[in-house]
Amino acid sequence: MKRLHQNHGGYHGETIDIHAVLRETADAATAAGWKGEAFYTGPDFTLTAWHRPPTTPPATGKPRRIYLSAGIHGDEPAAPLAALRLLRENLWPANAEITLIPCLNPSGYMANRRENSMGLDLNRDYRDSQSQEIRAHIAWLTPQANFDLCLCLHEDWESHGFYLYELNPENRPSLAAAMIAAVAQVCPIDLSPVIEGREAHGGIIRPSLDARTRPLWPEAFWLIQNKTRHSYTLEAPSDFPLATRVNALTVATHTALVNV
Ligand SMILES: [Zn+2]
Repeated sequence: MKRLHQNHGGYHGETIDIHAVLRETADAATAAGWKGEAFYTGPDFTLTAWHRPPTTPPATGKPRRIYLSAGIHGDEPAAPLAALRLLRENLWPANAEITLIPCLNPSGYMANRRENSMGLDLNRDYRDSQSQEIRAHIAWLTPQANFDLCLCLHEDWESHGFYLYELNPENRPSLAAAMIAAVAQVCPIDLSPVIEGREAHGGIIRPSLDARTRPLWPEAFWLIQNKTRHSYTLEAPSDFPLATRVNALTVATHTALVNV
């Protein structure tokens, strides 16, 4: 869990072959009985949403609907790798209906940079969308039923440890402390009082939901306005070894899914 001190001015760690990772993801998902739906096909990549109905429907009521996404920033390799790990482990709550998008920005990964091939930060493109990827993502999301929980998997090249953003406007039972406690067993937590310019407490940031303060919407903000009332953006520290970061995102996701 030692810090590598190699991220000066940006991410300088390992890179991944995103096409190979997404082929392995498709193999793992298919082997576990998931169904893929391609919602955008460009010249050199496809965006796919994977879906798994509950394996044991709940005795009463509707199954919980869970949404996970990863890979919207192309210099954050642990996120699609964690999606692949989660599919391979196949340890999902039996009574939940799960949607997983393993990579929203393949062209960014091809260049190991945050933005897509047009230079757009896709996680700032959910209001007045300019990119093909996010226009297609929103078009695909819009007819979906609401989700009980949304998790967006990310990395931060300059953080001192793992942290997360919570959007929970109805004050549902928070999953944040449980996720931080579980991740602390496998990865340092960023305990800074201010992270990315926002007040943080023990690795937890609860940002303002005022749309006027956010002219450029990230994915989580669109989701909270349109499809869910409970979301987390998970941030692994990319100046630590890749295996540590994949562990952090995987453990946080498992913890959220068993506690929601
Ligand atoms: Zn990110």
